[in-house]
Amino acid sequence: MRSLILMLAIILLVKGVYPATEDDYFSVMGEVYFRFQNPANTSLVNEISKIVSISKVTSEWIYAYANEKEFRRFVSLDIPYDVLEHPGFMVAHNAAAKFSFETTNTEYPSYPEYIERMNQFQASYPDICSLQDIGTSVQGRKILCLKITGQTDYFFKPRVFLSSTIHGNEPVGYVMMLYFIDFLLSNYGIDSVVTSIVDRTEIWINPLSNPDGTYWAGDETVFGARRYNANSVDLNRNFPDPAEGEYPDGNQYQPETTAMMDFASIIKPILSANFHCGAEVVNYPWDTFERLHPDNDWFISISRHYVDTVHLNSPGQYMDDLNNGITNGYQWYRITGGRQDYMNYFQQCREITVELSNSFFPASPYTYWTYNKDAIIGLITESFTGICGVVQCKEGYPLQTKVEISERDFDNSFVFSEKQTGRFFRLLPQGRYNVRFSSAYHYPETLENISVDSGFLNVVNVSLEHAESGDISADRVIDITDVILCLRMAIGLEPFDLKTSDTNNDGITDIDDVILILRMSIGLR
Ligand SMILES: [Zn+2]
Repeated sequence: MRSLILMLAIILLVKGVYPATEDDYFSVMGEVYFRFQNPANTSLVNEISKIVSISKVTSEWIYAYANEKEFRRFVSLDIPYDVLEHPGFMVAHNAAAKFSFETTNTEYPSYPEYIERMNQFQASYPDICSLQDIGTSVQGRKILCLKITGQTDYFFKPRVFLSSTIHGNEPVGYVMMLYFIDFLLSNYGIDSVVTSIVDRTEIWINPLSNPDGTYWAGDETVFGARRYNANSVDLNRNFPDPAEGEYPDGNQYQPETTAMMDFASIIKPILSANFHCGAEVVNYPWDTFERLHPDNDWFISISRHYVDTVHLNSPGQYMDDLNNGITNGYQWYRITGGRQDYMNYFQQCREITVELSNSFFPASPYTYWTYNKDAIIGLITESFTGICGVVQCKEGYPLQTKVEISERDFDNSFVFSEKQTGRFFRLLPQGRYNVRFSSAYHYPETLENISVDSGFLNVVNVSLEHAESGDISADRVIDITDVILCLRMAIGLEPFDLKTSDTNNDGITDIDDVILILRMSIGLR
């Protein structure tokens, strides 16, 4: 019903009566697109960024979106603004034309066409492609992900994740992801580069993260697409934030956000990119912290590499915003609750954000695909430079271990080995590193001078020794820390580890063990 009413409203608008005021926009779109002069005052811009959703900053203007509540708060700041034509009305929709993979395609798919294409990929290439339903939007649309990988037995296959259109009215990347999937599947076994990356990596592609925003006017058209989800929340401000913590935007986590968090927790991609449009730049972490990411050099290098490759395949002036096409997120403008920082800080995945086009609905999304194709392939191959390996216990079972680069890692930039397999990946620039492995109840190990060469994953396997009985903290001394840990285990405040805590070998961790460890710590045993 809602969608029918909206369709009627939009049909009226197509006849020439576009909304003009913010109230018109709220009644049709539920959000307004506007701009105000850049006050050239970082702390003020940071404040405004917490109230409305800033989408682009130039030296002169700041562009932003707001739902009604956000906009009322902005208006109370008394900053002059202009309401702009909503990008959702900028698409030239030809009801007679259908989306296709032809070079001449000018159409964006309808929702049923999208679902059909995604199913068709799996049906046509079942050996290398499987479709996963990773969640459901507020209005019940599917959030889909395709897993593409060859049936090869490489043990160290990096997982790379590409996704697009978390902002519903930024569909260039959505279509580009479909082109990319089609390109990988139809060239596998034919093109040696494609075959190699499909065989050596696991590529996960989610073309459309915010389907309700994209199909705001109904399933048949992207005309009327909006930025926010169906609850009028900007999904790219809705993630836990490294600086601001839980619920940084004051909203509950949306179903689309939860789907993405669950996906990342289960699949644990090591490298990812999130595609947007409205600007032409690659944005790297952090968005929330002013200080630089410990892997800042690596982020600059992969971002530069992406944009340099784009420049080889596109006309001048494409993707040259800010520092010739790349920027640190915070230095451009601060956002909180963004997916990029969430993935980096909470999921130990290295994610960048790619802004693909100034135009929201370019007539030929195919053209942008040709500009970005080699760069996306190049980005995937960045997952081949670094260190990988397996961490085990001396007894031979896999261990979930923190893997840290000494004198480099902070702000959660370490990675973990997987619980099930003990496998880890750490992407790094070329160089030599000391790598520290640590896991609860095990003596940590540091391997020195491990080399990283461009294009190679150096395999480093490690086994850690279980700590001695009584040394629960695994620091090679039995002291009050161990007494407290044992006490916490005995009263059920944390899971016990029999090898270190059951000092009297009676199969349980209880007060007798606490007393024994206390006696050990003061030299009575
Ligand atoms: Zn965006």
